[in-house]
Parts: sequence; structure tokens; C-alpha cells
Amino acid sequence: MSLYSTDTIFALASAPGRGGVQVIRLSGPMAGPALSALTGRPLPPARRATLARLKGKDGEVFDQALVLWFPGPDSFTGEDVAELHLHGGRAVLAAASEALTAQGLRLAEPGEFSRRAFEAGKLDLTEAEAIADLVDAETAAQRRQALRQMDGTLGALYEGWRHRLVRALAHLEADIDFPDEDLPHGLAPAVVPVLTGLYQEIGAHLADGHRGERLRDGFSIAILGAPNAGKSSLLNALARRDAAIVSSTAGTTRDVIEVNLDLGGFPVILADTAGLRDAADEIEREGIRRALARAEKADLKLLVLDCSTWNIGDMAEATLALADGDALVVLNKRDLCTYVPSMVAGRTAIAVSAATGEGLADLLAALERIVGDRLMPGAAPSLTRARHRKALEDCRAALARALRADLPELAAEDVRLAARALGRITGRVDVEDLLDVIFRDFCIGK
Ligand code: GDP
Repeated sequence: MSLYSTDTIFALASAPGRGGVQVIRLSGPMAGPALSALTGRPLPPARRATLARLKGKDGEVFDQALVLWFPGPDSFTGEDVAELHLHGGRAVLAAASEALTAQGLRLAEPGEFSRRAFEAGKLDLTEAEAIADLVDAETAAQRRQALRQMDGTLGALYEGWRHRLVRALAHLEADIDFPDEDLPHGLAPAVVPVLTGLYQEIGAHLADGHRGERLRDGFSIAILGAPNAGKSSLLNALARRDAAIVSSTAGTTRDVIEVNLDLGGFPVILADTAGLRDAADEIEREGIRRALARAEKADLKLLVLDCSTWNIGDMAEATLALADGDALVVLNKRDLCTYVPSMVAGRTAIAVSAATGEGLADLLAALERIVGDRLMPGAAPSLTRARHRKALEDCRAALARALRADLPELAAEDVRLAARALGRITGRVDVEDLLDVIFRDFCIGK
């Protein structure tokens, strides 16, 4: 239950600032009376846009606006809800807030509308999280993923698994609690394939290369290379804006600089790292430490070499030493070289010039292909959050224990933990449904 469930809350639902329209949403038992007080009229018909003159605390009309009335329980929060579609602007917002506060309404806490919707059973937690993701979505692929989760597909997958576990648990419990009852034979063995099947399905869902989480958080690319190879210039050229400081003095990029890119609808975080070289000064050494730490975590490494010096510099070797299987070699300053090899240290190299823009389209196309391959959602809904991953891992560990258990009591306890882990994802943990299944399936005590 919400701490404030009897409070009526209001908040600006649109972005603050000047604009054509701003929307204030009200939710709670006082939403209706407050709306009537503002318009000076009885409530408008439900779910119909109605034009009204709104009066402030002092009785003065502060806006002529559209109002909407959504009586509970058929509303977003399940409570009585009203919306005021006001003209955008600060003075109008101030007058409306003042009038609503005078009516005894209070400003909503962050996320409180969704929280109320969840508590009223209108949304499960994955759907509530999807609303937040949709609001935060910056690229088309992120938007699609959020929308897909918002329609309940992901929640339904997890709930489906949980129901299978709850049924298995009911069988186990029945075996333990009612050994003398006239129950079907071989209940516990019948449970084994269910647990094994779920263990495998959850395993496959987890082994998705983190694509859903990456799509949500952004695919990270670290630009690595020797000082003066042109890493900052390349980042700027790719981002088409001056995000990093470009300088001809070696070792000036002393921290990690990030820019967010939209690559074919996929979100990418491009990070420029400090030049990797034997640093004399403390700050620069810290920069290098961060560069290496970032490179470790990056989803993809871009190894940038100066094409005029790559085969003679020690730094080229140091840079190439960072190469893992997926690293991409970029030979920069193509404009200064007459000959550019197509392979470097056994890898395909892409020749570019951050200065003239030559080759950048090829590089972007290569990056887009890699990112698309790694983030493209599969047919099944994607795992989108570390919170879900943790719960699924807990669930799987509990299933593994249950399958190894010697006693049905121990197996039942682990299956219960496994089901609870899944219930934590959607927020639907309760024991009532376990009892329901026992009685519906077996009619014990009838
Ligand atoms: P970083 O230390 O690797 O980040 O290198 P910078 O981006 O600061 O570039 C070092 C120097 O190389 C600067 O003077 C750049 O203007 C220059 N530079 C970078 N890319 C190119 C390029 O493609 N062609 C030419 N001719 N100069 C470049």
C-alpha cells in the first residue's frame, strides 16, 4: 500500500518551460472536487475533452483550457484522475499549482503516478519500468524495445515461468503435506522435467549477449591509440561536433570524454581516452589508468593508428596489444599517406582522415553493422535490466539446487525461492495463488 494513498496528488506531466500546451495530471479522491472547483461547474463527461475557463485561488480566470476527467477505476492510476491541458508557460503553471494546493492537493513525488498504477494492479513492475524507458528513449531501437516491454510481453514471459513453478511447487507440496490423499502417482518425478525445462529456458534467455540491457544503456565504444594518432579529432568527426579538445600537443586529453551517437537507430556511447604512452605527469598517468579501465569495459575497441607512423612507432605496438577479438583497427591521417595497408597485424584496417572526412562513411557503416548485429532484438522479448538479470540468475541457482535436493521438502523450499525471484521482477509475489493451484488441481479436502 502506498504511504499516501488517500492523498490527492498533482504534477506537471509535460516538460517544464514555455510551449503551446502543458499538461497537469491530478490523481486521488479529491481530483473530481478540485476539477469542479477550477471550472466552477459540475464534472465534465468522462474521457471527453471539454473547454473550460479555469479560476485560480482568488477567483480570477487564469487560463482557458481543455480539461479531461477519468473516473477510477478505469484510469491510469486506478484512482480518479483529471488532466488540465493548459497553455504552456510559467505564470499559468504557478496559478494552477497555487489553486490546486489551496484545494488540499500536494505535488506528486517522482514516479508516484506509476507507483499508484502498480499498486492498483494496472501495471506490473516491468511495464512501469518500460514507461520510464520509453520516456528516456533516444533512438528508434530503444523506443521499440520500451514499447514492446510496455505492452506486457516481457512481464507475461516471466509470469508464465512463475506460474509453471507455482504449479510444480503445488505438486511438491501436495506430496509432502498430503501423502495419504488419493493423488496421482509419481508427482515429484513429474516435477523434474518442468524444473529442468525452465532452467534451460531461463539460461537461454540470459545468454543473449546483454543485448536488451545494451540497447537500453547504450553500446560503448572506446577509442584507443597513441597520443596524436587523432583520437579526439576522430571522435569529433564522428560526432560532428566539438565534444573533445583537439590539440597538437601530445597527452592533452586527460580524461575520458563521451559523446552519445545514434547509429542506425541504436544508441552508442563513444569514449575518447587519454593517449596511451609513458606519462611523466601524475594527471596524465591517471588519464591512462582510466583509459585502460574504460577499454576493459567497452563493448568495442577502436584502435586508432597514425598511418604515417604506425609501422615504426612503439605506441602502435602498445595500442595493438590492447586488441581483442572484436577490436577494429582505424588508420587515421589517410590524407598524409601515399600508401595505406588494408591489413594491420592480421586485422582489416579502415583508412580514414578525421581532417578531410575521407573514409568516415565506411567507418560509420562498419560500426553500424557491428552494433546492429550485437543489439538487434531477437524474436523473444529481451532482458532489459540488471535487476531482472540478477533475479533470473537467483531463480536459476535455486532451480539447480532444487534439482539436486535429496528431500522433497528441500526441493520445495528451493522452488519456492525460485518462484519468488521471478515474482520480484514483475512485483507479483504472493502465496494466495499457490493455495489456489493446490485446491483447483487436486481438490484436497473436498
Ligand atoms: P589524439 O591525441 O589522438 O586525441 O590526437 P588529436 O585528435 O588531438 O590530433 C593530433 C593532431 O593530429 C592534431 O594536430 C590534429 O589536427 C591532427 N590530425 C588529426 N587527425 C588528422 C587527419 O586525419 N589528418 C591530418 N592531416 N591531421 C590530423
